[in-house]
Formats: sequence, C-alpha cells, structure tokens
Amino acid sequence: MAPKICQNHFSVTSAVNEYNWQIEHQCPQCGAPVILEETDRIFLCPYCRTKLYLIPNDYFRYCIAPADATSREIIYIPYWRLKGLSFSIQHSEVSHRFVDTNILAFTFPGVPSSLGLRPQVFRLKFASPEINGTFCNPQISVREVMDHFGTPDPLSIYHTFIGETVNLIYSPMYLENNVLYDSILKRPVSTLETGDSERLMASRASSRGNISFISTLCPQCGWDLQGEKDAVVLICKNCDSAWGCRGSAFTNVAYAIMANGESVSHYLPFWRMRARIEGIRLESYGDLIRAGNLPKAITRTFEETPLYFWCPAFKVNPALFLRWARQMTVSQPEEKTRELSQGMSLYPATLPISEAEESIMITIADIITVKRIIPLLPEIRINVNEFLLVYHPFTSRQSELVHTTMKLSIDKRSLAYGICL
Ligand SMILES: [Zn+2]
Ligand SMILES: [Zn+2]
Repeated sequence: MAPKICQNHFSVTSAVNEYNWQIEHQCPQCGAPVILEETDRIFLCPYCRTKLYLIPNDYFRYCIAPADATSREIIYIPYWRLKGLSFSIQHSEVSHRFVDTNILAFTFPGVPSSLGLRPQVFRLKFASPEINGTFCNPQISVREVMDHFGTPDPLSIYHTFIGETVNLIYSPMYLENNVLYDSILKRPVSTLETGDSERLMASRASSRGNISFISTLCPQCGWDLQGEKDAVVLICKNCDSAWGCRGSAFTNVAYAIMANGESVSHYLPFWRMRARIEGIRLESYGDLIRAGNLPKAITRTFEETPLYFWCPAFKVNPALFLRWARQMTVSQPEEKTRELSQGMSLYPATLPISEAEESIMITIADIITVKRIIPLLPEIRINVNEFLLVYHPFTSRQSELVHTTMKLSIDKRSLAYGICL
C-alpha cells in the first residue's frame, strides 16, 4: 500500500498495523456511532467534532455482540488479545519475534482456545455496564500468557513482552439444557458436568474496568493537544509541553528535541531512561564500555558520565527495535536541544514508557559480552528512576530516514505511519 502523506503529518500505512480490529462506540456527546481502531487512544466524532482521550483503568475490554437479540442470558467468555514484541535471552543471545494473537483466558472444557478470525469479521464494542450479560473474570493472568510466549527453550534465562496492545475480548455464549452454546455460530461447545454451571456463575466479574474519556485540552494552558490517534504522548504546541496519561488524568512528560543537523525532515521519538540496577555494576558509561567490551578508551569523563538506556518510542518490528535500542545505548547520544517550532514534523510516540522499561534487560543482554557477567543476568533488578522523551533529527533520503548525527538509517516502510518515499 502506498504511503499517503507528505511533510508535516503522518498517515497509517499497512506496514505494521495490518490487522487492527474495529470497535464501534456511540459518541457520548451526540450519540452517533463512531468506529475506532483498537489502537486508537483519541476518540474523534466526525459528526459533532467531539474529541476525547481514552484511558482504560487497566486493560481495554471489548465484546463481540451476540448474533441476534435473545432473551437468553449471555455469558461472555474472556480471551486475552496480545500484540507486541517478544524477546528472550539464551546465554548471551537475544532472540525475538512479533506476536499477534488471542488466547482463551479461562479454563473450561470444549471452549475454543482462540477467537480465530472473528474479531476481524465482527465489530467489537466496549464491554460497558449497559451491556447485559454475565462477564467472566479471566482465570489465566496476562502474565501467564506472556510467559507462554517466551521461548520454552530450557536455555532461556529471561524473556519479556513489550506490548503494543494488551486487551481483553469477550466472546458471547449461552446455556441451554446444560449445554454451553456459541451464540454466534449457534453451535454447542460444551456439555456441562456437575458443578460447571456454578463455576461459570462464580467467575462473574464484579467490575468491567471502566474507561475514562478525558478532554484533549492542555492541562497547563487549555489549547488543543496535538497527536495522532494512537499516540501515547500528546504535545501542546502553544506552551511547548508534552502529556501522557497516568491513572485517569494527563501528567506532564519531560521531553526534548535534539537540535543538530541540517535539512531535518522528521523527528523520531526515543525514550531515554536512567535506571538503578542491582546485581551488576552499570551506573556510568565507563561501566558499559567495560561490560560490553566496547572499542573505546575509558576516560575519567566516561567513568563519571551517567549511563542512559535508550529505545524507540514508536512501533517497529522487534529486530529494528533491538538494533536501535542497542546502538543508541552504546553511543549515548548527547546533543544540544532546541525549542519546538510550528511546522516541525514530530513522529508520534506510540510506545508508553511502562513498556519501554521492559527493554532495558534485553538491551543489557544484547550489549554485554563479558562472560562472567552473563550468568548474573537473571538475578539483576532494574528500577527506572528517570525518563525523558527525546525527538531525534532525521533527514529523508530516498527510501530511508537517516539520523543526522549518528548516520544510522531506518527504512521508511518499517514505520507504522507512512512517510513519503
Ligand atoms: Zn458526536
Ligand atoms: Zn499548553
């Protein structure tokens, strides 16, 4: 699919987000039905122009509507929906893969272990309190499902999942004469044994984790915040501030724009993280040079330079994610910053800091070569105590964007938002 945009805005291409599911939601202002993509964080009503930011309490919970109106009590069975990057460490090697799946979050004989293609065929709805039925609590935690995607390789010493999307999706069923039926296909899926029915009812969820809809006005100056619809950080171009959500409100996100380079066409966002690491010594740049055997002389300045971990703040495939995290952490870019100006092309930050933190262990494993440190990896504890969103300058060169000072390039087609080739 050809990228659609030029210059200062971006449009979604099929590069990464090919199978986004769609959610129908009524505009809280005018009642019109609005279609959202599952990754959307901004709700924009095309009829009354209401613009709101969506915040889940924990996960977004969606349901598939039953095939037709029925007087039967609908029982909604939960599935975890996971999309993101899975990394695992075996000895000193990091392996990775892209995960896009859904999996039954419940143990019940006969119930299909996956939703298959359903969510692509049927529109989803938020599992809001107006929807009648019994919603069952997941019995398998999302952590258990993520662990399942780590390599079952016995040599794997660590694995992590960097989630682009982690949601719960409910599929409708109903009970008739002690048989559980799929309410879309109208097919029996399970004959209940003694106690099964009670077990289903006992797992009824007491809460469906309501979503908050909040205003997209800058909490500091009241201007409309800017951001693509799946951005996790929104920018106020009036008072030069950045906002992400924590709990159910926007909080200020420290951010900087790197100044260097001529003919900058785009700025791509990266997270810069400082962490307290227990178990191995990795405080200064000098420590990293030693642990990674990097081809640099350790100077006193390097011994005193605090070590920052870096990773992309945008969605990209796992190989590129790892490569950029490694290269930026190894080179510790440190440049002058500049102010935000009108017309600057800031690529949307779509990976939240909570997920970015998961990358640090993988970056360490990818860089470290000193053999005696490798066995210590499973024992280390990482606490991020400072983070900054940094927009790095890139120049456009044919099919690539090239970092203006590091000279590293990224293929434009690997970015979820299209950039003119
Ligand atoms: Zn509306
Ligand atoms: Zn503002």
